[in-house]
Amino acid sequence: MALHQSKPGRRDDVFDLYARDLSEQPLPKFRMPENSSLPDTVYNLIHDELLLDGNSRQNLATFCTTYVPPQAQQLMQDCVDKNMIDQDEYPQTAEIEHRCVHILADLWNAPDAKTTLGCSTTGSSEAAMLGGLALKWKWRKRKEAAGQPADKPNLICGPVQICWHKFARYFDVELRELPILDGELCMTAEQVAEAVDENTIGVVPTLGVTFTGVYEPVEALSKELDRIEAERGLDIPIHVDAASGGFIAPFLHEDVVWDFRLPRVKSINASGHKYGLSPLGVGWAIWREPEDLPEELIFNVDYLGGQVPTFALNFSRPAGEIVAQYYQFLRLGRKGYTDVQGACADTAQYLATELEKTGHFNMLYNGDGGLPAVCYSLKNSTDRGYTLYDVSERLRMRGWQIASYPLPANRHNLIVQRVMVRHGIGRDLMELLIEDMSRTIEFLDRNPMSNREAKASFHHGR
Ligand SMILES: *Cc1c(COP(=O)(O)O)cnc(C)c1O
Repeated sequence: MALHQSKPGRRDDVFDLYARDLSEQPLPKFRMPENSSLPDTVYNLIHDELLLDGNSRQNLATFCTTYVPPQAQQLMQDCVDKNMIDQDEYPQTAEIEHRCVHILADLWNAPDAKTTLGCSTTGSSEAAMLGGLALKWKWRKRKEAAGQPADKPNLICGPVQICWHKFARYFDVELRELPILDGELCMTAEQVAEAVDENTIGVVPTLGVTFTGVYEPVEALSKELDRIEAERGLDIPIHVDAASGGFIAPFLHEDVVWDFRLPRVKSINASGHKYGLSPLGVGWAIWREPEDLPEELIFNVDYLGGQVPTFALNFSRPAGEIVAQYYQFLRLGRKGYTDVQGACADTAQYLATELEKTGHFNMLYNGDGGLPAVCYSLKNSTDRGYTLYDVSERLRMRGWQIASYPLPANRHNLIVQRVMVRHGIGRDLMELLIEDMSRTIEFLDRNPMSNREAKASFHHGR
């Protein structure tokens, strides 16, 4: 035992924080320590542990904001003690939330953006639950009014984000997720006719499919549903999951008609913390017109002082993300968003071109016409002796985090990789990635996994 350890008493007074008691032992993992420690010791030790996390800016798997300008960070800090639900206590944060709702309703071409109902959420997942619930309530009311059974609701979608599977399970709705047809990357309008029936509460197209980045054809779906209504009398609403695309299409693809310009689109969700450029923790749900949100779902809370209407799954939540969203709206304006998203789209298309030039990849989506992303598979993947999973793992040595995964239902045997290009990922960074990618492929071609001990390595099941 080292001499100094035999000294009795606590050594919190040692001036160097790495020579204090807490620094000389593993941090408690299962039980709260008996004693308190100095704040800078604890801060530094936790900060050090976080060094082992990946570097978020090099995380090309995430859709979420990883570049937060200092002013937005300051506003987050200013609001760290404000609960957004206390609208009576903090009327201006509530006012700012309302402004964001109307700005988004206007951006998405609501018929009367000043009266539109909507709310902030913790993200698109919560917003999707709220959108789905509104569809379910509206459908049930219609069925009950017609004296028909209302116990077997179903929802139609293409390859959806996990939140819709959650919605279906948590709220007892059958999810009819249409399989991806050969040669397609998302649902087609033609697939819908066979799937809908009198118990369909809605159709949910995704604007910016998670797996590939493409937009599902909302306008064509809407027309198909018009036809179905004319022929079969089924009036089926659309909710658009525009988690990412809601902040891309209005700026880069104005001619894509996907929003409230289509009367059948009754509600839209989007993630403020993705291409909305707000820091993590905010999403949005917007309804076309007040009547599209059943009033039974809105609770009036009177114990915070004043009558506060709320439609949310949670209650208390910080206000900072909402305020930071408003900051980005004002700071960037439509021009700024167009510039930022345009730069991302250009960079994504550049990456696609460069990857294609290597001759090693089949481009599934090259960043044109949808999200600023690239999606590709490996050419001759069965003869290479390694897979995209190995490519991901080797790129990780340089800090790049790039997801490899199989496409969903029906095209499950196709393994793809996807790169999300976001605000803060410049051309130079992309250039470095392209070099690392080429080096990685060269290395794996020379040293295929099949020659190595680690043949069936653990990460294949991930
Ligand atoms: C990310 C995403 C979601 C979930 O959004 P969160 O903001 O992470 O809750 C839902 N749908 C789509 C299409 C997404 O890309």
